[in-house]
Amino acid sequence: MVVGVHRPTQLVIDRAALRHNIHAEVERLDEGCELFMVVKANGYGHGAIQVAQAAKDAGATGFCVAILDEALELRAAGFNEPILVLGVTSPADAPLMAAERISTTVAATDWLSDAQAYLALAEPTAEPLHVHLGLDTGMGRIGFRTVDELATAIDFLGQHKSTLDFEGIFTHFSTADSPDDHYFKQQVAKWHTLTDNLPHRPRYVHVSNSATSLWHAACNDNMVRFGVSGYGLNPSGTAIEVPYALQPALSLTSELVFTKKIAAGDSVGYGATYTADQAEWVGTVPIGYADGYERRLQGFHVLVDGQACEIIGRVCMDQLMVRLPHDYSRGTTVTLVGQDHGAEITLQDVADYCGTIHYEIACGFTGRLPRRYL
Ligand code: PLP
Repeated sequence: MVVGVHRPTQLVIDRAALRHNIHAEVERLDEGCELFMVVKANGYGHGAIQVAQAAKDAGATGFCVAILDEALELRAAGFNEPILVLGVTSPADAPLMAAERISTTVAATDWLSDAQAYLALAEPTAEPLHVHLGLDTGMGRIGFRTVDELATAIDFLGQHKSTLDFEGIFTHFSTADSPDDHYFKQQVAKWHTLTDNLPHRPRYVHVSNSATSLWHAACNDNMVRFGVSGYGLNPSGTAIEVPYALQPALSLTSELVFTKKIAAGDSVGYGATYTADQAEWVGTVPIGYADGYERRLQGFHVLVDGQACEIIGRVCMDQLMVRLPHDYSRGTTVTLVGQDHGAEITLQDVADYCGTIHYEIACGFTGRLPRRYL
């Protein structure tokens, strides 16, 4: 994809903020508990490689990704730390993952037998394939659900130690970000049912995403999968207070590229959905839904000179129009996410307006936006 370096619209990522958030969590963890930074989906839109480096500098000892290609990107960039793929991989890629020391989530025993067949045919690798067994304690996505299923998988691993290493066991909580901990407690109980009688404890036992790590007592785990809060975002939105000040790492800025005065009765944008009641100044900003700035944001606002300026008319693919309090010169900064003269638009504000969560907004910024790192 073309990156728009000749257009004055950019995501600005503050690496000191990333380091602050991640280090604050590392400091809170029990001794011996490690933090793996979750850098899937291009580091939640912030840039996987840059986030991984900032996380490492702040004390993270490993990384989690969603798909194998994201793990390979980190290896190609020179990261030697443990990397865990959280999603289901293909058994055919078992030899590649073993060769690259990429740990994989396993959610079914037939995956193990298929992978074993591929490993048996492949060149031997220096290390066996590192496997983390995923347990479905209530998320309903992937994972072993019964003691018997889990015992069969552990048995299989025990019989194939030269090619398969039982490195980890984990679960994922679906309501850790909610003030109501009823379902969370049910999941914890299920976790205990599944894991209390394990024949042996693997190296990594992990149950915590950001919300669990921030707000819930540990399940005798020794690694957390820290995601959204590392980026400075409250996993609960605004429902629960975070124990330390998070610093949002991402800002989105652009510039006015064109201004004009329109008269009462003039319309703006596709569908002529906005018509001025009176004469007013209108500015055009070079960003649109092809950049991940959603069409639903018509009626929301940007900051110009610290003032909220309404987005009038439909957001186009590449441009949008805002109502200005008066004329501004071409090149005046427009802040779409971030701070300007004491005013602020957060990703949470954008998400609230779109009726979604800040995760989706952050991941949705496309590759056309250049990312500038402070
Ligand atoms: N662990 C798993 C299995 C996940 O799927 C995710 C994110 O979706 C995380 C950890 C990180 O979650 P968060 O970004 O809420 O910290």
